[in-house]
Amino acid sequence: MRVTAAVLYDAKKPVVVEDVELSEPGPHELQVRWAANGVCHSDLHVITGDYPHPLPVVLGHEAAGVVETVAPGDHVCSSYIPSCGKCWYCIGGQPTMCALRDKPRWFMLDGTPRFKKDGRGLHHFLQVSGYATHSVLPEESVIPIRKDAPLDVVCLVSCGVLAGAGPVFNRAKVPPGASVAVFGCGGVGLNTIQAARLVGAGQIIAVDVMKQKLAWAEEFGATHVVDASREDPVASVQALSGRSGVDFAFEVVGTQKTMEQALLSTHRGGTCVVVGVSPAGTRLSIDPSLLLQQRVLTGSSFGGGHQRTDVPMLIDLYMRGKYKLEELISRRLPLDELNRAFDLMLQGEVKRSVIVYS
Ligand SMILES: [Zn+2]
Ligand SMILES: [Zn+2]
Repeated sequence: MRVTAAVLYDAKKPVVVEDVELSEPGPHELQVRWAANGVCHSDLHVITGDYPHPLPVVLGHEAAGVVETVAPGDHVCSSYIPSCGKCWYCIGGQPTMCALRDKPRWFMLDGTPRFKKDGRGLHHFLQVSGYATHSVLPEESVIPIRKDAPLDVVCLVSCGVLAGAGPVFNRAKVPPGASVAVFGCGGVGLNTIQAARLVGAGQIIAVDVMKQKLAWAEEFGATHVVDASREDPVASVQALSGRSGVDFAFEVVGTQKTMEQALLSTHRGGTCVVVGVSPAGTRLSIDPSLLLQQRVLTGSSFGGGHQRTDVPMLIDLYMRGKYKLEELISRRLPLDELNRAFDLMLQGEVKRSVIVYS
């Protein structure tokens, strides 16, 4: 069938919105009509070339839609990290580490694409490709969700929301009263702040270089803000903590500098969780004595927990009025304004933009 998709042919060039061919789903695959897809920095990393990827590709990995085959009418969120439920990782309780991650993420599991343009295959992105009106996905890459949740809002849970909030529950397991610092207060970091508030963190220090983002951080639950464009964030977090640093620091930017700053902002025995995605080739330089002082430096993938239950859990919290999702959406745009959506993100003017399909 003919569908409309945004295709990236060359890095550092705009995406091209055009009609392409989508072939029938194979065994254990399903066709989904997307309702919406959030605009995430990881897509931009591919466009800028910071994150090399086979081209041409249909990007987008933060999607929600309606299944058209296998179980027609089911509502789903995309799961950019698949979970098969059968491999050593899935059975062992780490489905975000699923063995399917070892397969090429730009094809279906049989090693072929379903998108074509003029007879030439187009790569999928993380087996989702949400910047298209329709897509075919492996059944391991969708998460069924409740039907009364608005798809153009809950699509955000498919990446940014779970990526930001999950590490608080799953990786750091932040207890009530704990002190937390969050480096980076964009569309993902605001979820880290919000989750820390939800679990009852006593102190939530937001760090960013943009005044606007620090104002958003306060709306989402930050108790203190640090403007890293004016002050040394490590010294400021240490001073605010009343100890030699916070219990938990989360890095949600993806640069060497902010990762090192986040680690240095923890006290002896504290934990630093890296959430930000860094350009290929990024390296850290840390003093190993920080680790001998029993600091933990770790990271998180897609929330670091159980995506098949975490996504519906966050949607339930939103539906009960206990989690802000609408407030994360600054713009709703049609697919043919996708390039503009990336420009707005680069300018730091939006929390999240959502591409909506009519
Ligand atoms: Zn993302
Ligand atoms: Zn698995």
